[in-house]
Formats: sequence, structure tokens, C-alpha cells
Amino acid sequence: MERVKVLIIGSGPAGYTAAIYAARAGLNPVLYEGMLSGGQLTQTTMIENFPGYPQGVDATQMMGEIREQAERFGTDVRFGVVTKVDFSVSPKKIWIDEDTELEADTVIIATGASAKYLGLPDEQKYMGEGVSACATCDGFFYRKKDVAVVGGGDTACEEASYLAGLCNKVYLIVRKPFLRASKVMQERVMNNPKIEVLFEHNTLGLYGEKGVEGAKLVYRKGEADEKVVDIKIDGFFLAIGHHPNSDVFREYVKCNEEGYIITDGARPTTNVPGVFAAGDVADPLYRQAICAAASGCKAAMEAEKYLKN
Ligand code: NDP
Repeated sequence: MERVKVLIIGSGPAGYTAAIYAARAGLNPVLYEGMLSGGQLTQTTMIENFPGYPQGVDATQMMGEIREQAERFGTDVRFGVVTKVDFSVSPKKIWIDEDTELEADTVIIATGASAKYLGLPDEQKYMGEGVSACATCDGFFYRKKDVAVVGGGDTACEEASYLAGLCNKVYLIVRKPFLRASKVMQERVMNNPKIEVLFEHNTLGLYGEKGVEGAKLVYRKGEADEKVVDIKIDGFFLAIGHHPNSDVFREYVKCNEEGYIITDGARPTTNVPGVFAAGDVADPLYRQAICAAASGCKAAMEAEKYLKN
């Protein structure tokens, strides 16, 4: 059976940065990319807040370059999804795509987080036929059409602004009477004539014969002035946050109520010796590429220290 010193799971900024550090330390890391090569950032457009890019950088380009950097120092980057682990033994056992088994002295979990959905049956019904959680991936299909984005955070504002560049009209469906996004993103949305913000609206359902043709919303549900609102849209984009991809590890690795892996304060160590967690899977607070990269660096340094001891 194959045995590796450092196994890195995930290919976002945390995973690749861990790989750069582990590879440069001569640990011959193996990195499994997971479902989404390059991680969540490949679903966004420009990154304007990563230091070193005064004009911003295309997110897919940046992830491609970080990967190249990891490979240049000898990281073995592979396709595959971790489907099972056994962290009760040493070395740890890991199964890739159900059938490939390997052993690892240390594991760095950098599996990130995935988009949340509202939980409406219509989201499933119209998945890929008008419902999407990634404006950058699917916005192109809605050029000159009317769409809606759900959410009031930075992601929702970013997606709405991006879609406004392509679409005829963008509704932003916000459940509260205010946006939670950063000031600069709020201003961008409020000053865009193509975006109409529907505060205090919730989605009841979607309708349409051939894909999404509209959404039924409710304004101020439960209040005296409650009313049902109908908007004609062709696309319905979710931007209501993410949940951490920790399911496969939860039997062994301690997580908080939301599923974020609990690490030891500033150190990326978990309750399992030799298992480290970096990036969004362990970060309910900041969730920024730069923070993920930094924690990937720390995880690789901790793995190196663990192997020496
Ligand atoms: P957030 O958790 O910040 O926002 C989620 C939004 O979705 C909130 O407005 C929330 O409403 C709303 N929401 C959640 N559940 C529902 C629901 N069931 N129905 C309706 N609305 C719902 O997530 P984001 O993905 O926007 O951002 C995550 C982190 O990433 C943040 O720290 C953000 O700053 C950061 N980020 C930074 C970017 C940048 O700097 N360029 C870009 C994108 C993200 P409510 O407010 O009522 O809770």
C-alpha cells in the first residue's frame, strides 16, 4: 500500500499553500484536489484584495499559478475525492473515490466549504435549469435576461454586481431590512441602476414550464402588511453562505455545531495528533483567501514538526 508523509486534501489557497511549504521542506506531499479543482475561488471573478495584485487578478488564473508553484517544488497533485478515513490508527488510513486506499503519517484537511441552498423543493426541481449557486459559472446563460440573487452578504452583492454586467435586471432578495455586506460592496449594489434590492423579502417558490420563469416571494412575512410578490425571472442565484466540508472526518475530528473543524487557537492542530485543518473548513470567521493561505502554511509547518518528533 502506498504510504505518504504528508497528505493534503483540498485544492484551494489553503491546500496549495500547505503543499508549497511541505514540498519545499522535502516532504514529498501528495495533494488530492477534490470535486472542485482550485476550490471556491475558481467560482468567483476578480480578486481585488489579495496582496500583490494592485490591479486585481482573475481568480482562476491565481489558483492555476499557486498550483504551478506547488508542483514546481514537487507536490504530487492528483484528481480524486476522499470518501472515508480511519484516524484511529497510525499511520492514518484514507480512501480515495471509495476504492483506492493509502496511508499517511500526517494529514492536512483543507476541504473548504460549499454553497448553501434555501431548502425549497423547487431548487432541486430547477437545478441547472434556472437555479445556480455560482453567478460566475452560470451568469453567461442569462445575458440580457432578468435574474434574482438571494442573500445580503458580500457574496450576494458581488454576484449581483457581476450579473448586472451581463443581465437586463437583477433583483437582490434580502430577508432583513439591511445588507450585511461590507460598505464598499453595499455602495456598489445600491448605486447600480440595474439592481433592485428587495429588503424584507423571502422566497416561497419558483415556477415555470421550461426552466425558471418566475419566483413567488413574501414581503414582511407575519406582519400586518405582509404580501405575496411575483417577480418574472429566468435565473435564481443563491448566495446565502456556505457549510464546511468536514462530513467525512467528523467521526474522528472534533467540529463545532456548524461543522467547522475545531483547531487549537492560532495553531491548525486538531484533536487527532498528526491531523491538521486549514482554510475555510476550520474558519467560521474570516473565510478569506489570504487567511486560508496563511493557515495552510502553518499546517505544513506543524506537519513538518510532528514528523520530526
Ligand atoms: P454571509 O454569511 O456573510 O452572508 C449570508 C447572507 O445570506 C446574509 O445576508 C444572510 O442573511 C443571508 N441568508 C442566510 N440564510 C438565508 C436564508 N435561509 N434565506 C435568506 N437569506 C439568507 O456569507 P457570504 O458568503 O456573503 O460571505 C462569507 C464571508 O466571505 C464573509 O466574511 C464575507 O465578508 C466574505 N466575502 C468577502 C468577499 C470579498 O472581500 N471580496 C467576497 C465574498 C465573501 P442575514 O444577514 O439575515 O443573516
